[in-house]
Amino acid sequence: MSLAVTGTQLDGEPAGLRAEDGVIAELGPAVEPRDGDELIDAAGLLLSPPLVNGHTHAAMTLFRGYGDDRPLMEWLEKWIWPAEAKLEPEDVYWGTRLAAMEMIRSGTTRFFDMYWHGTEVARAVADAGIRAVVSTVMIDHLDPADGEKQRPEALELLDRLAEVGALVTPGFAPHGIYTVSGESLRWIAETAADRQLPVQIHLAETEDEVSECLARNGKTPARYLDELGFLGPRTALAHCVWIEREDFELVAERGATVVTNPAANMKLAVGRAFPYPAAAGAGVALGLGTDGVSSNSNLDMLEEVKLFALLQKHATGDPSVLPAAEALAIARGARSPLLAGTPLEPGAPADFLLLRAGDPELSVGGLEGDLVYAASGSVVDTTVVAGRVLMRGRVVPDAEEIVAEVRARAARLTAD
Ligand SMILES: [Zn+2]
Repeated sequence: MSLAVTGTQLDGEPAGLRAEDGVIAELGPAVEPRDGDELIDAAGLLLSPPLVNGHTHAAMTLFRGYGDDRPLMEWLEKWIWPAEAKLEPEDVYWGTRLAAMEMIRSGTTRFFDMYWHGTEVARAVADAGIRAVVSTVMIDHLDPADGEKQRPEALELLDRLAEVGALVTPGFAPHGIYTVSGESLRWIAETAADRQLPVQIHLAETEDEVSECLARNGKTPARYLDELGFLGPRTALAHCVWIEREDFELVAERGATVVTNPAANMKLAVGRAFPYPAAAGAGVALGLGTDGVSSNSNLDMLEEVKLFALLQKHATGDPSVLPAAEALAIARGARSPLLAGTPLEPGAPADFLLLRAGDPELSVGGLEGDLVYAASGSVVDTTVVAGRVLMRGRVVPDAEEIVAEVRARAARLTAD
């Protein structure tokens, strides 16, 4: 399978790109199509690296708008968890298909997912053609015996996810330190290390979580996880809103990635901004995520990156904090080896976007600043993953069927 993109621009210069077998084979002004190439005439379109969503719950597109405007614990306990109890595996498949479509339409080509029914998530990811870390989720309600019972099934799921293909990376996703016992977290850390798998967990999202952790374990959330052997280069910590500088230094020392989710933090009013200056100052690997749709309420990483940058400027009172180029690099996964954004260079995966240079938001100004402050995902014309065109001219195949399925299923799940 080969693909040739001609007549595009990269960093203000004329450019073309050829992909073979899912990898960028040629890139530069003199690239010519070859016999058998699928052709994209990209006049008026700008070549761009894609975005990486570092933390989400993709199938929660089923719950968009459900339980809006409520505090986090009430939202989880009275709205989300009861509705999730009605979930059937097929619901997760379609919810993830809708999420994948939304991501493809807004320029995300890889996401870190934490959701139930991982085999259905993986099936949707493979059918959509996008990349994802798909997880075996664990909640044992702080009961180690319950956690131990779940282990065989968790391992079996990892094996099944490993068989799906190159687009899916299996991983662990224990929900949080207040829903998963230390024994289970230690087992996950050891198993993930043995198998070299990524692990993601929610951490220090609220002040209450931190004070409960101090009361129960006598230490902060980051130190508690570190004692369990949980912090390492394959660990992603979502949120970390209520973490201080010295704990960020520990996280940086261990090489773990912190994924900030500004829209979800603001929508659920977690009480302060992610302390980006402290995290960046400590040298923490950083990523950006949308979190699930029900706490966002979309998966548009270009909207998220604007909120990220503006919130930091607002919270610090300093407009020079988190300049556009740095915010965009974080949104592209380029500031975390774990998130591993894909650069545009020969030999790299053929994952890229073509952006509409003539859209008002991109028509004047520098591209990085326009992408962060002006544009939304609607400027993405074409999305390519592993050399396969997933959207062209903003059209994603199967869109009507996916929307109809999710509408019907969402109505059933959220009915009283
Ligand atoms: Zn989350």
